[in-house]
Order: sequence, then structure tokens, then C-alpha cells
Amino acid sequence: MNSGRSAGGKAAKATGIDDVARLADALDAGDRRALARAITLVESSRADHRERAEALLERVMPSTGKSMRLGISGAPGVGKSTFIEAFGLHAIAEGHRVAVLAVDPSSKRGGGSILGDKTRMENLSNAPEAFIRPSPAGATLGGVARRTREAMLVTEAAGFDVIVVETVGVGQSETAVADMVDMFILLTSPAGGDELQGIKRGIMELADLVVVNKSDGALLSAANRAAADYRRALQLIRPSSPKWRTPVAQCSALDGKGIPETWNIVERYRTAQTANGTFATRRQEQARAWLWSEATETLLANLKSHPGVGKRIEEIEKAVAAGRVSPTAGARRLLEAFQKS
Ligand code: GDP
Repeated sequence: MNSGRSAGGKAAKATGIDDVARLADALDAGDRRALARAITLVESSRADHRERAEALLERVMPSTGKSMRLGISGAPGVGKSTFIEAFGLHAIAEGHRVAVLAVDPSSKRGGGSILGDKTRMENLSNAPEAFIRPSPAGATLGGVARRTREAMLVTEAAGFDVIVVETVGVGQSETAVADMVDMFILLTSPAGGDELQGIKRGIMELADLVVVNKSDGALLSAANRAAADYRRALQLIRPSSPKWRTPVAQCSALDGKGIPETWNIVERYRTAQTANGTFATRRQEQARAWLWSEATETLLANLKSHPGVGKRIEEIEKAVAAGRVSPTAGARRLLEAFQKS
């Protein structure tokens, strides 16, 4: 690899392309180490890495899109990792290959990342049919979402046919995840008292399935009440999809009860939404939205790094903040500076 770099720009570039071809072949062969490398590449914001990531994505596009993309969200402590482990192992037993990616914009690498803890999902991470990737560190939600979408594509290229995108249900990340998956699963657990407290209506509207975890032992009757509350609440809100009524399932991730039934709902959802066309339409809409968010983000980054604009940003921002210039006029000045040269 390094010999290409020392042989000058052209050769280095050629080596980069060879690298990409080799990486694409290794992905095609289902090589998990290559997959980890490919994800590192798509997560990188270095300009030369972005270029190679784009070349890689272009190559692997034909082998993407064949997975079931699942989003799983829930407040800390509801049992997400326990559930994903049990659910993932069940899917593997059913003959699938399962990848888990995380969207956690609050995480710092090595710090509080939701998948950073090595002891999480130990059995699943040891399974050869599974691949677990922690959240990329330190980026904005938009940045994390973009990288996760790309990570999802290379993961599909490596032959994983069930992709779980996990997120902590505390902020805006649920919407970002719901926008990139085929099915959004809200994981909850009985909290005691008013079970629905704290679950925002907006999040409920995103859910294609609500799962009440911890439906076991001393928590069982509270879990049954919570499930009934969710069923009632779901009748009052706009369905996530016009042709699907969001069901409420119950399980115990700890003892495995209800996990096969939950998996069956996922399969039923896929079959029904494929047959009625929603599955394909949703993906097309997501791809279109992704295109425009890419275009918007790139354009904005180009605008901000443009030499003629860069030096005026501070002055215009100050004038707008002080109320001397209207935001509309300020934006127009920035765009004029951008278009001038
Ligand atoms: P996360 O923060 O959402 O990823 O939650 P964890 O999977 O780390 O689980 C939080 C706690 O709930 C742990 O102590 C788990 O053992 C416990 N837990 C998870 N699933 C269940 C379950 O089905 N039943 C019971 N009783 N406890 C569970």
C-alpha cells in the first residue's frame, strides 16, 4: 500500500482505486475485517477518504438494498442491548446474518457510546453471523445519520440481511433513524404508574411496532397494563403507514419469551408492506430525501469554506445578530459573495 503513496500522486491515486476494488471484492466475499475497514472509510471526513468511500459505494451499490432494515429505539434501561442480543440470535437461528449499527450523536469514542461497552451483547458479538459496530464519535446528528446510511450499504454488500440500527430514545435521533429504515421498533418497558409517561406522541407516530419488554416475573402485570395503554394510545394517533396497524408485542429479552413472536411480526410486516408496495415506496422516498440532504450538506460546506464567503461570515452574522441587517438580506449577501467568484 505504501509503495504506491511514495511513487507520486498518480500512482497513489491508482493504488487508492486498486484498494477500493480489493475492498469491494472482500466485502463481496463477506469478509468481516474488510467490512470494519469499509465502515471506517465511510465514517472518515478526510477529503481523500470521502473520495474513496464514494468510489467504494458506487462499486457495491448493485449488492446493496437486499436486507431488512430495522430501527430500534428506547430510553436507556428499557433493555435495548438485551433485546437486540436475544432478537439477533433468534434471527441467526432462522438463517439470517445480523448487523447492529448505532446512532448516538451524544457519544464520544471510548466514552459513553451506547455500543462502546464490550460486554454488551457478548453472545451476539461472538457469533460469526453477526457484526456489531459502535456509533461513530463526536459528529452532529446529520453527520452520524449520513455515515450510518453509508455503513448500512456496505454492511448489506457484505451479505448481512438483517440490519439493526439502534438509537437511544432521548432526542431527535429517532426521526433520523426512522427515516433510514424499513421498520421502526419502539422498545419500552413497564415503568410503574403512568406507563405512557415520557413517551412523546411524535415517537409513537413513527413506530411500526411497539414492544413492551420485561414482560416477566414481578413486572408482568405492569407490562400487561402498559401494553393495553399503548394499544389504546395507538388508536388515537396517525398510523406510521396507511396500510399497517402498529401492533403492540410483549416479550422478555431476559428469558427469551416472546422473541420468536416479535420476529414473526417483523416478517409479517415485510411480507405485507412488500405486497402492498409500501416497502418499495418508502425506500424510494428515503433515497430521494437522502439525495437532497447530501446536496444540501455539501452545498453548505462549500459555501462556508469558500474564500470569498468565509471572510464575510463573521461580519454578516454580527450584523444580523445586532439587528442591523435582516437575516434575509444577510443570507443574500453570503450567496452573492459565493456566486461572484
Ligand atoms: P439498554 O440501556 O436499553 O440497552 O438496557 P439493557 O439491555 O442494558 O438492560 C437494562 C437492565 O434491564 C439490565 O439490568 C437488564 O438485565 C434488564 N433487562 C433487560 N431485559 C429485561 C427483561 O426482559 N426482563 C427483566 N426483568 N429485565 C431485563
